[in-house]
Amino acid sequence: MISDAEKGNDEPWRVKIITLFPELFPGPLDCSLSGRALRSNLWKLDTIDLREFGEGAHRSVDDRPVGGGPGMVFRPSVVAHALDAASAGNPAGSEEWPMIYLTPRGQPLQQSHIESLARTRGMTLLCGRFEGVDERVLRKYRLREISIGDFVLSGGEFAAFVLIDAVVRLIPRVLGNESSAIEESHSESLLEYPQFTRPRVWQGIPVPETLLSGNHAEIAAWRKSEAERITRSRRPDLWQKYSAGDKHSRSLDDHSQELDDRETER
Ligand code: SAH
Repeated sequence: MISDAEKGNDEPWRVKIITLFPELFPGPLDCSLSGRALRSNLWKLDTIDLREFGEGAHRSVDDRPVGGGPGMVFRPSVVAHALDAASAGNPAGSEEWPMIYLTPRGQPLQQSHIESLARTRGMTLLCGRFEGVDERVLRKYRLREISIGDFVLSGGEFAAFVLIDAVVRLIPRVLGNESSAIEESHSESLLEYPQFTRPRVWQGIPVPETLLSGNHAEIAAWRKSEAERITRSRRPDLWQKYSAGDKHSRSLDDHSQELDDRETER
């Protein structure tokens, strides 16, 4: 969880989205946690309509690919004007304010990227459509390229929803229970342990006995060994990273100890 002090300012975290379809926003981000946080000004969202920068009588934003082939490509001049508009008033392109193009050829998105994005003052997202964006403007503005997975969407807006949702939940005061962001899948190169709620027995299946013991150390040990078992069988790649000691921070044990300490302080 990132503290306000760590962020070093009182301005809400802000995202600027360059899109041909501004009407899609805030869309699903207006619901639940992110929606409540948006209405409470914990973060802000601005859309920049790419069409406003379109050229000619038809406000054209795209053109045919040079060299042939199917589809259309966003024109560099149109995208450049939209990026300039998005950059007015913020340190665009810096560590504090990354400019990101969402694209299937980008760096695969990981929880560690989300954590560092939550520490910025804001970000600008460029959502592609059709065949994508002229390469020259991507290079000139040094856009960071991020992919949300090895599949192809019809537009960057859907990837933007994913990215924004994941960042917003790490903004201070957005998640009700701060500890829920600490012990979860991917925060330690481990997948999450199984979760249970009441009733104690459902359709003849009891919850694991250990979880009812009230013994914090035993519960933490059970959860850790389950997280390890699940990671080893489902994600050999993550398991290798974890067992090589390449963990982002502390072990689950340390976190549980910290939570225990907090409980005792209360
Ligand atoms: N021709 C492109 C795909 C274009 S898909 C290629 O082969 O790489 C249209 C737009 O959807 C892209 O410009 C991008 O902004 C978005 N998009 C598609 N898949 C994505 C993914 N996996 N991650 C992030 N953005 C994606």
